[in-house]
Amino acid sequence: MLNANPPTEQNTDEDDCPICGLPLKYPALSRFDNKTYVCGQCGQSEGTGFLFSLFDDTQRIMLQDREWANTYGLTEWQAHCIVIAAINGSTLGYQKKSREAFERLREMMDNGTLEKLEEE
Ligand SMILES: [Zn+2]
Repeated sequence: MLNANPPTEQNTDEDDCPICGLPLKYPALSRFDNKTYVCGQCGQSEGTGFLFSLFDDTQRIMLQDREWANTYGLTEWQAHCIVIAAINGSTLGYQKKSREAFERLREMMDNGTLEKLEEE
């Protein structure tokens, strides 16, 4: 299997991220093994992913315990890639929701609703 394990040789100027496939550009050392380079987004997801994802507790536990990896005979690296890709996707949703919340807050500031709430 091609991606059963992290790549053993990487050229950070030419290779793509082994997790998401985007250019490495500003690479980060993967927390998976501290020697594989991943892109900045995947590095960030490895570090703070669950904090900024929209996963609920049950989804988080399922992704973290990785019992499913054994069910499908996946390597640690393959399971890691799936978890980080899932976090990346969930984080995109978080960014959208954050933008929407910020726009709502700005509207409330502009029309005085926020001040009324603070007075209550
Ligand atoms: Zn990546």
